[in-house]
Amino acid sequence: MSDIIKILPSDVSNKIAAGEVVQRPSSVLKELIENSIDANSTKIHIIIKDAGKNLIQVIDNGKGMSKNDMHLSFIKHATSKISKIEDIFSISSMGFRGEALAAISSVSMLEMESINNNQNGHFIEINGGELIREKDSNIQEGTSIKIKNIFYNVPARRNFLKSDFVELRHILDVFHRLAISHPEIEFSFINNEEEIFYLKEESLNKRIISIFGEKIRENLIPIHESTQIANISGFVLKPEFSKKSRSNQFIFVNNRFIKSQFINHSISASYDGLLKDGYYPGYFLFIEIDPTKIDVNVHPNKTEIKFDDDQNLYSIINSSVKHCLGIYQVSPVLDFDKDPSMDISYDQVKSQPTSPNIEINSDFNPFKVFNDDEVNKISDDHLTSINKLNLENDSNQALKIFQILNKFIVSTNKSSLIIINQNLAHQRILYESFLKSIFENSVNSQKLVFPIELSLTKKQLLLYNKIIDEFKSIGFEIIVKNELMLIESIPFGIEKNNVEEVIENILNEDFNTSNDFSASDFFAKRLSKITSIKSGQKLNSDEQEYIVNHLFSCKEPNLSPDNKQIFITLNKNDIENKFNG
Ligand code: ADP
Ligand code: MG
Repeated sequence: MSDIIKILPSDVSNKIAAGEVVQRPSSVLKELIENSIDANSTKIHIIIKDAGKNLIQVIDNGKGMSKNDMHLSFIKHATSKISKIEDIFSISSMGFRGEALAAISSVSMLEMESINNNQNGHFIEINGGELIREKDSNIQEGTSIKIKNIFYNVPARRNFLKSDFVELRHILDVFHRLAISHPEIEFSFINNEEEIFYLKEESLNKRIISIFGEKIRENLIPIHESTQIANISGFVLKPEFSKKSRSNQFIFVNNRFIKSQFINHSISASYDGLLKDGYYPGYFLFIEIDPTKIDVNVHPNKTEIKFDDDQNLYSIINSSVKHCLGIYQVSPVLDFDKDPSMDISYDQVKSQPTSPNIEINSDFNPFKVFNDDEVNKISDDHLTSINKLNLENDSNQALKIFQILNKFIVSTNKSSLIIINQNLAHQRILYESFLKSIFENSVNSQKLVFPIELSLTKKQLLLYNKIIDEFKSIGFEIIVKNELMLIESIPFGIEKNNVEEVIENILNEDFNTSNDFSASDFFAKRLSKITSIKSGQKLNSDEQEYIVNHLFSCKEPNLSPDNKQIFITLNKNDIENKFNG
């Protein structure tokens, strides 16, 4: 019998290896950005078309490559980053296996331009791993790599790609992880000709806010702990910012994003008693650890990692998180006049302990001091005191409230005049009540005798599928068949005649992760905007009173869901100054 073992030709083995490194457009983007970071770039520009299926381009201002290096870069095991086996134990760069470009170029059409050390710029074009063209280039700095037509020569894999919506989510995940771990780098991100991120060089907390939106600002609790085993830094999110998904969980080891069940577990355990069932805490945790104490190369995508000393690391992380949550739990002083922007959330109120112990003590749990009755009592007392502080007049006197210009509601408290924008105030009230219904799943709906029929575009359908739960939890009962939507029930409070407009309006907006930190938030924001009382609408005294009372029971009465100021106050000094000035 003749020999049957063959050595695979390199293009075949590269294509097989590509399956490990290049699973989808987002994995290509990850490798390209990591290479740009390793090349000491300070600016990285990303251009995506059709969720990366037709174009992924990364342009950097890093150290670039010589003509020769460009040729070598797409050969397997070509790397400038290690030369001997010991190097891999002390490596700090993002990649070092020298496989990425070889793998990527074997399954796509690639164009690379680069310039290095005042040599002339050069351009090469590679299709399916074959160099097909090269020429001089007038590129001025760094490197630009274009990946066109990913998997054009492996149709089985191309067909396996998910919808643009899903692939783009993966791309954004990759982008978020790298942008968060490198706030010192300026990033821009263009998707289908539209700039969706421009992130200038900034601090970590600003970077997190730039990506996840202004709302996250007041929910960031800094964490800092240095121990002999590891240093921990970054931010954890307040319990009330927890979500039904793990999408706000970021762990970086030596500044590289990783996934780790046991670290997730250790952090979640620190939130014990602070989260509703089914909710996950959010965090941006940076762990710095001696690279010889970990093995990062266990997974080709390098997102899984082995720690030598995971038991100790578990308790260090657990107690550091408890520690910083404990500090944050020190109750804020309630002073409306001093700081009207203070966030008084129901959840926060509920979880306020007396004075927590802030020593690090792994057994310590500052949140177990209350039983439910005490918690409820505190939250009730607290709410009454908010109402007192804000708006209560003498108890036997009715509130003096009136409307001006069909646009503002004027009210007073003991020392100030308050002028409220009726539209923004109502948005805030609705927004919080929608969010509440979504989170508590408290359905409140009316069945329609004649269901409303709407036909959807593909894009609307994509977005609808993303926020289907939100629609349900608020009281919509909807059946979707093919691209037809049948609305059978609608929430109380929404007029039947407006339903079509409301749904069109929600589904026509682009879901933008930079401003809306979750689908629920997006949904509640849109819905509150559409259904709120508008400027120009005359309100009777009951309606005026409703707005004032409900506004000041909100968590954030001072800002609209889009962060606009809802009311102004004029105190005694302000008024006196008007007369003296
Ligand atoms: P690795 O990053 O593991 O070394 P890659 O296949 O990703 O392997 O890249 C191969 C080599 O190409 C790198 O070691 C580097 O020298 C060079 N290279 C790739 N991208 C860039 C870039 N954007 N700027 C400068 N050099 C780059
Ligand atoms: Mg690389």
